[in-house]
Amino acid sequence: MVNWTPGFPIWNGVQIGVILALGWGVWQVGLLARMVWGREEGLPWEAWVYSGLGILWQGLWAVAIWQGVPPLIRFTAWNLAGVVLSLLPMGALLWIGRFLERRLPRWALLLMGLGAGVALIAATLPYRPETGPALSAWWNTRRIPGDPVLWSWGIREGIWGIGTALGLGWLGWAYLHIHRPLHRNRVAYEFLGAGLVALGEGLAWTPRSDWIALGWGIRGIGITILALPMGWLELPSLRQVGRSLLAWGLSGILQIGLVWGILAGAAAARASLPGVVPVGLEWGGIALAIVLAQWWIGWPLHRWLRRRLLPAVDEPAAAVRRYGQTISNLLDVEALAQAAFTVLQETFGLRQGVLLLFEEQPDASLQARVIRGLGEAPDDPGRFAPDSPILQAWQEGRSLTQYEIDFGKAFQRADPAERRWLQRLGVELFVPIRAQAVLLGCLALGARSGAEAYSPADRDLLASMAEQTAAVLQNIHLVEDLRRLNARMAELNEDLARAARRLEKLDRVKTHFIEIASHELRTPLTHIRGYADLLAETLSGQDEPDGSLERILQGLRRAALRLEEIISAMLDISQIDAEALSIYPISIQIPTLVRMAVEPLEGAIAERRQKLIVEPMEGLPVIYGDLTRLVQALRHVVQNAIKFTPDGGTITLRARRVSAEEAGGSTDYVEIAVQDTGIGIDPEDQALIFEKFYRVGPIERHSTGAIKFKGAGPGLGLPLARGIIEAHGGRIWVESPGYDEVRCPGSTFYIWLPVVSRSED
Ligand code: ADP
Repeated sequence: MVNWTPGFPIWNGVQIGVILALGWGVWQVGLLARMVWGREEGLPWEAWVYSGLGILWQGLWAVAIWQGVPPLIRFTAWNLAGVVLSLLPMGALLWIGRFLERRLPRWALLLMGLGAGVALIAATLPYRPETGPALSAWWNTRRIPGDPVLWSWGIREGIWGIGTALGLGWLGWAYLHIHRPLHRNRVAYEFLGAGLVALGEGLAWTPRSDWIALGWGIRGIGITILALPMGWLELPSLRQVGRSLLAWGLSGILQIGLVWGILAGAAAARASLPGVVPVGLEWGGIALAIVLAQWWIGWPLHRWLRRRLLPAVDEPAAAVRRYGQTISNLLDVEALAQAAFTVLQETFGLRQGVLLLFEEQPDASLQARVIRGLGEAPDDPGRFAPDSPILQAWQEGRSLTQYEIDFGKAFQRADPAERRWLQRLGVELFVPIRAQAVLLGCLALGARSGAEAYSPADRDLLASMAEQTAAVLQNIHLVEDLRRLNARMAELNEDLARAARRLEKLDRVKTHFIEIASHELRTPLTHIRGYADLLAETLSGQDEPDGSLERILQGLRRAALRLEEIISAMLDISQIDAEALSIYPISIQIPTLVRMAVEPLEGAIAERRQKLIVEPMEGLPVIYGDLTRLVQALRHVVQNAIKFTPDGGTITLRARRVSAEEAGGSTDYVEIAVQDTGIGIDPEDQALIFEKFYRVGPIERHSTGAIKFKGAGPGLGLPLARGIIEAHGGRIWVESPGYDEVRCPGSTFYIWLPVVSRSED
């Protein structure tokens, strides 16, 4: 039978092995405590299972080698330690699954349960009648060849081996498939730790106590390394450490070789030239040669090695300058992202990178737009809560690695969706772009070439590049705003032009209508007048004229006259529209013009019991124009004043000279103002009343009639007046505080006519 307990040395009565085993168990408890303390959200149960099994295993070992404990208990403890040891890789697999954030499939868990059962059964094989209940008795009756102890051992070792190989394989696979250097480094720790643990546990299967003790040591180191990524965020890069060691090692060998060569050369020289060179000189020469060789060869070689093995940006200042020059004049974000990442690729050798641009949303969250720089990138935008710890870090200007975001304590409370979206970008480092403490975006950089992590120096360099990017981005935003504004303006212009075209068309339709209507109405009207005249003649020939018929006839004539007026106004308007109004100019005295305009209206004014005041008009210049037309225009304005002033109101006419200076031009004007105490005109109607057919307010408010209060015509008077006055180079407009039929604020119409001498015309 195989000796089942290795003999640990006893020193001064102290059982070294037990102390070792228990000490190791305590160490693992300490590690567990550190892991718990180092994490915010508590240690995952997988870690508890694994550590628990490890501690149990060590405890069982301590009992198994404890001299003085009854042999049966020791034997049982030793046997169970073997079971627990074969279970340990299963715990490790759970741990690794948790670590890689992958769930073990159900069948794997089932297989583990099966393995545990087999290990337990196998543990009962080596029992013999003298040690306890015997499966081995059954074994012997069946005459199965070999020692049950060996079988038991072999089975459990096999289970342990398979589990360990699976765990290591899984980690190795993960290492090869993870391309983010920091994540990879984390896996590398786990791989190294698991490898050492496997080696240590492997040694525990050997029967030699010194190997077993060594195995515990190795396992202790392994389990410590295994626990590091669970309890610590920032881990030195294993690759860096390895390469650094390699650089120093190689360079050390080179230096030694160099010194050795010099010494050998000196020895050879001494042998060929014995006693020629004094000893002091010889040693001095050797020292000088060593210093020079070190200076010229050794140190440059060391630096070269370090540069090869530990890459860094050659000339950071030049890189920043190049970056700035490349992006400074760009005016759209796509071009910016392309150019920026081209330079970043040259500088850091990355293969993946995007520009993130943040836009604040109505709900205060930020939307991140992805602008492609290098490699593939998802198109859908990301969303960050206003209180996202990731966003906060960026707002403070801190660059973050995906690794920090994934494993950092502070970021665990971030919305998992935010983290997942960032993970999908496949980048390694996020460098915030800020202007005046406002977060504009991020440079999101993929892994450096050679799967190196970004060093603190790299991050500094990138921070200054981000600053330059911020300036360019602000520029782009300004230009974009301007472009948007321009586009909007162009749109509005187009709308305006469309509206103008429509109005023009409408206006043409109106003109057309006036033309046709006036022509078509004229002929029947002439007939009506003709027949009315004929009727009048016939009536006058009768001996006893019929009074009622005469009244009817008069009404007929008045109506025909009014109609004629309207038609002739329509004709005039159509002439004005066609710019075909004929003007026959003569010299005109303003008082004459006013008198001629007002005289025919005196009857109406009297009828309405209104007062007409014509203020003295002396010393006014003579104007030059078509008297009939101007009388027509002015009369219309006065007629309106009569119409829209209640009975008993006052109409005042005033005239004055307006100097060129006051008029803001080069000609003097004569101003004729017609002021009334009427109902007034709303400011918004004041320009419109000069348009054809425009009437203020609803039609029911008006009565018909040439002089009746509020008697409205077809809305042609003022357009006609304006047409005539403008044809003379003048202007007409109205001023009124507003429309009010009760308080009657009144209106004043101003007519300006240019003072032109005959020679100027
Ligand atoms: P109408 O043939 O209706 O008189 P006008 O072109 O002469 O047409 O005037 C247009 C409209 O302007 C009138 O219907 C009236 O509402 C308003 N209006 C013109 N003159 C005055 C005024 N002196 N006071 C108040 N409203 C006026």
